[in-house]
Amino acid sequence: SFIESFCMSVTLAQIPSHDKNGEEPLEERCQRILQEMEGSLTARDRVGIQDFVLLDAYTSETAFMDNLRKRFNENLIYTYIGTLLVSVNPYKELGIYTKKQMDIYMGVNFFELPPHIFALADNVYRTMISETNNHFILISGESGAGKTEASKKVLQFYAVCCPSTRLLDNVRDRLLLSNPVLEAFGNAKTLKNDNSSRFGKYMDIQFDHQGAAVGGHVLSYLLEKSRVVHQNHGERNFHIFYQLVEGGEDELLRWLGLERNCQNYRFLIQGECAKVSSINDKSDWKTVQKALTIIEFSEKDIEHLFAILASVLHLGNVQFGASALGYATLNNSAELLGIPSNMLREGLTHRKIEAKAEEVLSPFTAEHAKYARDALAKAIYGRTFSWLVNKINESLANKDSTRKTVIGLLDIYGFEVFDVNSFEQFCINFCNEKLQQLFIQLTLKSEQEEYEMEGIEWEPVPYFNNKIICDLVEEKHRGIISILDEECLRPGEATDFTFLEKLEEKMCGHPHFVTHKLADQKTRKTLERGDFRLLHYAGEVTYSAAGNCLLLFKVMRQSKNSIIQHCFHAIEPDGKKRPETVATQFKSSLSGLTEILMTKEPWYVRCLKPNHCKQPDRFDDVMVRHQVKYLGLMEHLRVRRAGFAYRRRYEVFLKRYKALCPDTWPHWKGTPAEGVQRLIKHLGYKPDEYKIGRTKIFIRHPRTLFATEDAFEIC
Ligand code: ADP
Ligand code: MG
Repeated sequence: SFIESFCMSVTLAQIPSHDKNGEEPLEERCQRILQEMEGSLTARDRVGIQDFVLLDAYTSETAFMDNLRKRFNENLIYTYIGTLLVSVNPYKELGIYTKKQMDIYMGVNFFELPPHIFALADNVYRTMISETNNHFILISGESGAGKTEASKKVLQFYAVCCPSTRLLDNVRDRLLLSNPVLEAFGNAKTLKNDNSSRFGKYMDIQFDHQGAAVGGHVLSYLLEKSRVVHQNHGERNFHIFYQLVEGGEDELLRWLGLERNCQNYRFLIQGECAKVSSINDKSDWKTVQKALTIIEFSEKDIEHLFAILASVLHLGNVQFGASALGYATLNNSAELLGIPSNMLREGLTHRKIEAKAEEVLSPFTAEHAKYARDALAKAIYGRTFSWLVNKINESLANKDSTRKTVIGLLDIYGFEVFDVNSFEQFCINFCNEKLQQLFIQLTLKSEQEEYEMEGIEWEPVPYFNNKIICDLVEEKHRGIISILDEECLRPGEATDFTFLEKLEEKMCGHPHFVTHKLADQKTRKTLERGDFRLLHYAGEVTYSAAGNCLLLFKVMRQSKNSIIQHCFHAIEPDGKKRPETVATQFKSSLSGLTEILMTKEPWYVRCLKPNHCKQPDRFDDVMVRHQVKYLGLMEHLRVRRAGFAYRRRYEVFLKRYKALCPDTWPHWKGTPAEGVQRLIKHLGYKPDEYKIGRTKIFIRHPRTLFATEDAFEIC
């Protein structure tokens, strides 16, 4: 019929929400498509192109931006660059994550439907099943760009769509519920995001050979512990504290010695925004409670957990004046921690000096005592968080030992620039540098390797390699972390300023490093004396060396308080003499992560933030353009275009398209490679559009393939 053939002649790619099951009545579907194409604009003009690789002006940043904006204005937040998914945060519910949508995307080829995070999740999953290998999805972008939401959508997709047995239903629930728990303890309201992850998270989802999700494992990185004791204006402490105070049952609060008023706790109100309109602490508390039970935290565990949270709040109210100390609140804290209160008091206010076999107590100044208090609070929280992650892992662990394949999800907090950037931002931004490096290595490396393996010539595309910045930070003996280590561990009078001097001495002339002394006249005005500035791949960041960590580390190292000792005298691994500093520990945990990732096949989601105001329907050109630039999207696109964006094994290609050529249909007698060559000749592929590899056909532009798809649909 007319309707039938009309529908068939419209490329599937042009229909924004194609329903593969044909559930939508045919006539409605035609009506919709006609509406799509109404007026002078064709659907394609209006909604843009769903894969940047198809852009004619693919080297033009303007064309890239136009396409992105066009789609954003039509609520089409996803666009591909080949198999990389670009996503723009819509800041509104789009209704595109329903079970029905999941069904639509299940088992469908990448380019047959509009781009979607489910399409990516589904493709990763099916590749894992068919090739029995491990994968990871790297989700990156700046704070508030939608990384965490994306990772949750992927997890939900697997939880809902993967086959499962009744036996494993609880694994599914636990995988899903680990999220609210980790978010309660690890997320907080910041200026950039009301639900900002303040830790990096890598999660493995394990699948058995039938593709059922059977277990998981979480690694956490670099929890921002300083938030426990200090919040900038407009920011909050970790969600869980407010949930406890707002949502905790009367009886529980009474037992913990807490009042139902956040204003009473110093650690909760420094940002002056204990209440946030987008957050419902009371109902979140209920969710977390339920999750904790399902993840099988015992009653005792939960009791202890809240006792610890309360002890931290009490600790925050302890004041060290010239004379008095808030005894009652300190006693509260000690009791909840299960330690004698005089020991806690002594530990916080004195240090032991060993003088000739004798121990003498020497009092801290009030300032030092405050440091000690805050350090203790941070350490308690940090260690509790690690314990929590371990506990979740125990509950997600799969006990049987059959071989499993995994999909890893990496949601690391993005590049951060604040007015004052401390040691923590330094670590976060270094982490992003490393991940960018990995991205560069993997995208270029895997392309080159594949061409080489298949015997295809190609010319590499130039790109900015951020290795120079990674080296600046991590190089042995010469990098910033090495110098920080040296200064921290050097006996005697190392201070933040000697640290800075050392940096200046070693980094002088480095194109990515500036201090006040090294700066030219122009930059000097914007650079304080105690600061140093790094030119990261994503932009400039000024770090404050003053009060960074050095003094604090030194003070704490002198402590004889066993808790503080434990936290600040870094663990000496396998009896090695030289202890590790926090920075070094972080560096090694990052290389651990890189190793984990290198053994897996990468997939990428690049999240973009459309505006600074967390508002829907606002697309700030300058801001988005900047992100497109530093995320290397144009370069990635060029690599994709210069190479052969699509490749299929001969058998697969032939099986799908053999009906298009009378010679190959219904049976082809020769080798699949010969069959494919016959087929594409028949279809009129031009010689520069494809290459014949050893096992695969390589197609330069997907539009060539789309034409084939169209022909396929019509026939
Ligand atoms: P990030 O993890 O990158 O810092 P989030 O994933 O927490 O950012 O997203 C910040 C906020 O943006 C979310 O709380 C949500 O309100 C909104 N958001 C993000 N992604 C989406 C999406 N796909 N659809 C609707 N809203 C979203
Ligand atoms: Mg996040």
